[in-house]
Amino acid sequence: MDVPSVITIDGPAGAGKSTLGELLARRLGYLYFDTGVMYRALAYAASIAQIDQDDADTLGQLAETTTIEVSPPHVEDGRQYTVLVDGHDATWQIRRPEVEGLVSAVARHPQVRQVLRQRQRQIGQAGRVVMVGRDVGSVVMPDAPLKIFLEASLDERARRRTAEVNAREGHADQQRVRADVARRDALDRHVMQPAPDALIIDCDPLTPEQEVELILAHIRRI
Ligand code: C5P
Repeated sequence: MDVPSVITIDGPAGAGKSTLGELLARRLGYLYFDTGVMYRALAYAASIAQIDQDDADTLGQLAETTTIEVSPPHVEDGRQYTVLVDGHDATWQIRRPEVEGLVSAVARHPQVRQVLRQRQRQIGQAGRVVMVGRDVGSVVMPDAPLKIFLEASLDERARRRTAEVNAREGHADQQRVRADVARRDALDRHVMQPAPDALIIDCDPLTPEQEVELILAHIRRI
């Protein structure tokens, strides 16, 4: 099987990108990299520095000066990876509702996106990577040989995200999670479009394992 050196997976919040991305990367022996982490880390840094979410220039400068390091988990507490923001372990803080409420507003500024996309590109160019996000196939790595775009209904995504939060925090309000996913859909719409040559997968009827098999079958065919 001739495996593409870069595989991108994009799609809306709660579509299951991170579960699929990690599974697929493990099957292929590839690095798994979640670009959403960078936007979350920056939103977290902005909240600590108390930077206004509309202050595009200061946020752009913050993107340039903030160190974001993503590495294999160094604590066994259910994390997929460890995220250090300026050397401080922020792995769980970047999942908090305060960051979730801010991240799309921070991510909408071109000054921010330009800096983070460039860093993502460097990681992608090293190859043997499954990279997930919103615009990875369409903008960050448009030459990636395999691009995937996940689709799933709002109800299914809210259900999956609720289960995820529940597993992590022991409680989750499905209505609140659904409203947040819908709010981020609206805010993220302008940065998220499938690459013209993306393989579109409707995730509603599929388990993550079935999605992996479908992608591997596709790789064998191409
Ligand atoms: O994927 P995740 O939900 O962790 O992403 C958090 C937020 O980061 C998204 O809602 C979106 O606003 C932003 N994001 C982005 N471009 C990406 C990945 C994430 O704008 N490639």
